[in-house]
Amino acid sequence: MENKMDKKIVVNHLVKKFGDNTVLNDLNISISEGEVVCIIGPSGSGKSTFLRCMNHLEEPTSGEIIIDGQDLTDKHTDINLVRQHIGMVFQHFNLFPHLTVLENITLAPLDLKGESKESAGKRGVELLTQVGLAEKKDDYPDSLSGGQKQRVAIARALAMNPDIMLFDEPTSALDPEMVGDVLKVMKDLALQGMTMVIVTHEMGFAKEVADRVIFTDGGKILEDGTPEQVFNNPHNPRTQDFLNKVL
Ligand code: ADP
Ligand code: MG
Repeated sequence: MENKMDKKIVVNHLVKKFGDNTVLNDLNISISEGEVVCIIGPSGSGKSTFLRCMNHLEEPTSGEIIIDGQDLTDKHTDINLVRQHIGMVFQHFNLFPHLTVLENITLAPLDLKGESKESAGKRGVELLTQVGLAEKKDDYPDSLSGGQKQRVAIARALAMNPDIMLFDEPTSALDPEMVGDVLKVMKDLALQGMTMVIVTHEMGFAKEVADRVIFTDGGKILEDGTPEQVFNNPHNPRTQDFLNKVL
């Protein structure tokens, strides 16, 4: 199981500073293919920055991030190519308002992969079916609820056939009644074997779906274990403090 070849994501001594603010201070983690990792931690602890480093939306100050054997911090690595295998879903959806739901989904496959309109469209409808929104394909994002927008955003990320999916608080901006539908789509993806890194405050979801839970605070990983271990028997008093506040 610890075979190096299985490692989808390896982070070694990752440091990220903004000016003299050290946001990530020597993070080390490796994630296997098919693993579902939930990251929890207080606001401002660098969770988003960590995710953004993983697809090079932020440039690390030092350290290594190796995706499928390709070092993102190596000047010779084609970042755009690596990024095509990494889907990202944000808190605020970031759909294109002037494009229909289906056009939002097919944009990247058409532009970046040169797929035919027909095959991208067919795949787009399949993905919309997977997230329960096939009937919305010709609608514009503004006519959708937050939960529907987020499911479209997930379908859009999947359209590039990523083998890693990063989620940054995908349900934090949603009305409570919308959260379940989005988590259900994410759970299905996890069951299909997708490698997933999810920043979330949904502790119930983390308990049920995550293989591992990571707690970050002060730029460090303070906890890295199974949900049972992290939620029921954390090593670090700051983890317990945090859990007392959110659970
Ligand atoms: P979290 O997602 O855990 O709430 P963030 O990664 O968003 O934390 O932010 C961690 C810290 O990094 C915060 O102090 C934030 O102000 C700072 N930060 C994040 N992005 C930038 C940026 N682009 N420029 C300067 N500081 C930033
Ligand atoms: Mg954040």
